[in-house]
Amino acid sequence: MMSDFCPERWFEESTPDDYKNCLECGLYKHGSRMVWGEGNPTAPIMIILDNPGALEDRDGNSIVCGTRQTLQRAASDVGLRKEDLYITYILKRRPVRAYDKNQTRQICMNHLYEQISVKKPKLILCLGNVAVQSFFQNAEADVKTMRGSWYDIQGYKTAVAYHPLAVRRRPNLWSLFFSDWKIVADQYELIKTNVLIEQKE
Ligand code: SF4
Repeated sequence: MMSDFCPERWFEESTPDDYKNCLECGLYKHGSRMVWGEGNPTAPIMIILDNPGALEDRDGNSIVCGTRQTLQRAASDVGLRKEDLYITYILKRRPVRAYDKNQTRQICMNHLYEQISVKKPKLILCLGNVAVQSFFQNAEADVKTMRGSWYDIQGYKTAVAYHPLAVRRRPNLWSLFFSDWKIVADQYELIKTNVLIEQKE
């Protein structure tokens, strides 16, 4: 891992007025606030996680949680900039106790579909089994067997990788996590090169 890497709080995109104070799935009762997305709202690469980690500690001080630290480190190590990335979630609120997972995910994913249709990312990277199973609409989907390939999901070129927290818990996953991010970075380079060639023609 790079030793000079320093995680930071990224720009948080505010929730559009139409969706602020959403009560649709009932998760608002858990008391966690909505997080619509982080990073560059018009980024070419969308990262999808299961749900937001805490952005503030109990005293309200800004923090960069472990998920964000590991994600940012991988992005930095493969040469992606924060301007290249937008992070969002299957659930826009962080659950803090038991809830109906399938129903809640299906309801909240309408927000994700709305975001994707507006942002039209060139590439999507889905992190962790929960995000992959939800976004791929396949309860059997599994990062372990699916990583390393591209998939067409609703017309979007999508790759998968482990959840950053899994990588923190099992450091031996780092090299796999790194190589999955590298696939995304390489594909993005290819897209940029092709755009330049088209512009010259
Ligand atoms: S988790 Fe999603 S659907 Fe549920 S209340 Fe929050 S924003 Fe609405």
